[in-house]
Amino acid sequence: MSDQLRKRILTGDRPTGKLHLGHYIGSHRNRLKFQEQYECFFLIADLHMLTTKPDKESIEHIAEIARIIVLDHLAIGIDPTKVTFYLQSAVHEVYELQLLLSSLVTVERLQQLPTIKDMAAAAGMDQIPYNLLGYPVLQAADILMPRANLVPVGKDNESHVELARQIARRFNNAYGEVFPLPDPFVEGGTLVGTDGQAKMSKSLDNAIFLSDDAKTVQRRVMSMYTDPNRIRADIPGTVEGNPVFVYHDTFNPNKAEVEDLKERYRTGNVGDVEVKEKLAVALNNFLEPTRERRAYYEAQTGYVDELIYNGTLRAREEGKQTLSAVKKAMGLSGAWNRISRAAEKRTKKQGQ
Ligand code: ATP
Ligand code: MG
Repeated sequence: MSDQLRKRILTGDRPTGKLHLGHYIGSHRNRLKFQEQYECFFLIADLHMLTTKPDKESIEHIAEIARIIVLDHLAIGIDPTKVTFYLQSAVHEVYELQLLLSSLVTVERLQQLPTIKDMAAAAGMDQIPYNLLGYPVLQAADILMPRANLVPVGKDNESHVELARQIARRFNNAYGEVFPLPDPFVEGGTLVGTDGQAKMSKSLDNAIFLSDDAKTVQRRVMSMYTDPNRIRADIPGTVEGNPVFVYHDTFNPNKAEVEDLKERYRTGNVGDVEVKEKLAVALNNFLEPTRERRAYYEAQTGYVDELIYNGTLRAREEGKQTLSAVKKAMGLSGAWNRISRAAEKRTKKQGQ
């Protein structure tokens, strides 16, 4: 299918750290399917990072983390010829678009979004900065810039895609059809942490990273939280909700082995060590192809930078086209055109 016929996807990651198995299960594995059917734009959302991490140190790490995140994508099997990776802060048209869209949304509407307060609380802020309140509008600009049709997001961000849709509809009604109305694709499945906490998360130090080597995976698995009541191997244990079995169910393709382990665990006929060792093997089998792809791309010095660079130029081109259509529809380009034409005329006359 030619790119012109393909529908577009916009999704991305804040450059706050490397990707872990939770990201893969909750979101990134879907991207492997999307790349076959859609024209994909994957943004490195560094402007969004500024909402909660505007400190200089975080900003200094953007390039390094952007490379890691893109490499994580390539490692899981994202095809660099099929997707456009771009650095949000380098696409200036997005900033412009955000401002032009901001008259289509009210402060009250933004204040009603539960995510904003949650994010402020999570970042330990007692007041809400202007860019945090406005970040769903920036998100709308991200989505509308490449005129995306589908936006994969976590459940918590669904309301933001609805907002982008509302903004697009309002724009089209007020000024003329420019934007397709974006649909959310709600991703799901939260992966539990190695410590049994509800969510694997890098800041909770309960994550297995896609880039962890075999030894690290082994070590993290051997220290995983299991059934705390099971102090000896001959005590019947609980399988349901036990992170070790959640991971077995998710990553071990040998279902017979998993069923056998569960059965023996329930009846007190297997030690935690055996269950964990088999899990470490399954996880390393799962991660081995990603390690090979990572090594392949890593060996090509500068390849990832070039990919982000070219993707960003491509995104800028998209941004220019969209912005020009937006300004034309609004009649905003007319004011400058009239003034500059008149000015040029006078300059020319004086030169004669
Ligand atoms: P932090 O600890 O800094 O919050 P994190 O590891 O929780 O980092 P985020 O950057 O908050 O990662 O996650 C971005 C997105 O990745 C989430 O909105 C969600 O869609 C997905 N995600 C993160 N962790 C998980 C998880 N454990 N299970 C499923 N999806 C996840
Ligand atoms: Mg988080």
